[in-house]
Amino acid sequence: MIQRHRTKAVKVGPVTIGGDAPVVVQSMTNTDTADVDATAAQIRSLACAGSELVRLTVNTAEAAEAVPRIRDVLDAAGVDVPLIGDFHFNGHRLLAEHPACAETLAKYRINPGNVGSGEKKDVQFAAMIETAIRYDRPVRIGVNWGSLDKALVVRMMDENAQRAELLDAAAMTHEIMVTSALESAHKAEAIGLPRDHIVLSCKMSSVQDLITVYRLLASRTDHALHLGLTEAGMGSKGIVASSTALAVLLEEGIGDTIRISLTPEPDGDRTGEVRVAQEILQSMGLRAFVPVVIACPGCGRTTSTYFQQLAQDVQSYLRQQMPLWRERYPGVETMDVAVMGCVVNGPGESKHANIGISLPGTGERPAAPVYIDGEKAVTLKGKGITKAFLAIVEDYVRSHYGGEH
Ligand code: SF4
Repeated sequence: MIQRHRTKAVKVGPVTIGGDAPVVVQSMTNTDTADVDATAAQIRSLACAGSELVRLTVNTAEAAEAVPRIRDVLDAAGVDVPLIGDFHFNGHRLLAEHPACAETLAKYRINPGNVGSGEKKDVQFAAMIETAIRYDRPVRIGVNWGSLDKALVVRMMDENAQRAELLDAAAMTHEIMVTSALESAHKAEAIGLPRDHIVLSCKMSSVQDLITVYRLLASRTDHALHLGLTEAGMGSKGIVASSTALAVLLEEGIGDTIRISLTPEPDGDRTGEVRVAQEILQSMGLRAFVPVVIACPGCGRTTSTYFQQLAQDVQSYLRQQMPLWRERYPGVETMDVAVMGCVVNGPGESKHANIGISLPGTGERPAAPVYIDGEKAVTLKGKGITKAFLAIVEDYVRSHYGGEH
């Protein structure tokens, strides 16, 4: 059982981040926010995939004007996912000049490295915090190592130069990031934003740096923490790097909400980042979202790719069914389904799952025993095994999670 780091619970519309709440999955759009239809469509698909919060860029007057219209489109479609506005450089002005945008957004993300420079910095930061107070909205103070607060860097480098034992460059970066987050939170609280309206993040792009900086942050504050490896990259690199970093921190109880910053393929599916976030949390036993398919990798004992196809068909079927099943069959997301290639581990693994099928390997009898709750229930043969197996899965779901048993 993972002992969660104790943090203040922050309400973002109907969603709670931190406290005793489960780790929340969030995502971010990559459409032009001023394009209401495209952005609403992408938010809808992210929410359908399971994103519990969706962040969108608010970078221009057109984007700010679009936000309430996007909300209207989503509400009309029955999509109630809270929207978070991502502000850099001109957030103070956009929030002041577009009150409907400020009111529509459920949370504001403020990057303390991008709120202005010199005397303007504190004034512009305060203006955003005052708007958050006026509309009773939480904020995320999101530090990113690619946009550190330059004045803070200079000040802390000077302080380091006075030390008897100098911190090295990496340790200085970690200290600067954590200090930026904590000092900004302190300023926001001094202006009047309640502590339980503040989420912090310190995103870096290297796995080891991210782990170090979040350990440091968690040891110094009880603010709710947003976790994510920034600029994680594409494909398996981005997935592996994000999973590695987040798994270590989540295992230590650090992190109240996660976002996976994957670069999609050109014209690729943005919902991949939601799927990866869910799979990290489910693999670690922190949450359950979709029934798990346990499949063996296959080896020389199998003569065909039939079982790989079956595993893929089962996985796709389960994902497709989930929007309906989630409502109708509560608890179905905890179900395990095993699809195994031969008799070596097939029956054993299948018996441990709720439902399992062990396909025949090379030289085995052409029959596929199906196990339900550890007992052999039926043996499938010939063509149509996939269809017959999916029908068994459907029956199982209906009888075990539909209140009929
Ligand atoms: S269960 Fe059989 S086919 Fe699958 S990896 Fe093990 S030995 Fe190979």
